[in-house]
Amino acid sequence: MAFELPKLPYKLNALVPYISEETLDFHYGKHHQAYVNNLNGLIPGTEFEKADLETIIKKAEGGIFNNAAQVWNHTFYFESFAHDGRKVPKGDIVEAINGSFGSFDSFKEQFNKAATTLFGAGWAWLAKKDDGTLQIIQESNAGNPLRKGLKPLITCDVWEHAYYIDYRNKRPDYIKSFWEILDWDQVSNRFGQLSYY
Ligand code: MN
Repeated sequence: MAFELPKLPYKLNALVPYISEETLDFHYGKHHQAYVNNLNGLIPGTEFEKADLETIIKKAEGGIFNNAAQVWNHTFYFESFAHDGRKVPKGDIVEAINGSFGSFDSFKEQFNKAATTLFGAGWAWLAKKDDGTLQIIQESNAGNPLRKGLKPLITCDVWEHAYYIDYRNKRPDYIKSFWEILDWDQVSNRFGQLSYY
C-alpha cells in the first residue's frame, strides 16, 4: 500500500502573515512530500508493507519509523490550523486544561517553554492520557506520543524548516504566531473523540 500526501485543508497563502506561502510550499510541498516518498521507498518487502501508519509508528524503528512518524506528524500539524479558526478552547477540554495546568494562560506558558527549550529538531505536544488528564511532551526528531500510548491533541513543529524562512533563528516569534492560527475547534474535537487512529 503506497501512502499519499494528504491534501492541505486550505490554500498555501491561507496562514499569511503567520506562516508564509513560501514556508508552506517548502514545508508541505517538499518536506512532507519527501517523508511520504521515503516511506514508500522503505516499506516494500518489510513486515510493514500492508500496515497502516499508526501501526508502523508504534512498532517500527530506524528509518521506517522516522519517515512514518514524520508523515503522520506533519499531517496532524497542518490539519491543526485555520485562517479563521477559534482561538480559545471550548467544551470539555477547557476543564481538562484547567485541571492539568491550573489555567489556560499557565498551559500556554508551559507549552511555550517546552517548544522553545526543545534542543535541536523535534516536536512539542499536548497529549491526553487514559485518565483524561493532559500532558505537555517534548519529542526529539520524529517522536510521537502514540509510542507512549497517549492521544495527541496539539503539536508544534520546531524543526528549523518550519520557521527559518519566515522567522530565521527566532523560534519564540514563530511559536507566538502558532497560537494565532491554531484552530481550537479542531483541538476540542480531537479531545472529545474516543479514537481517531
Ligand atoms: Mn516539519
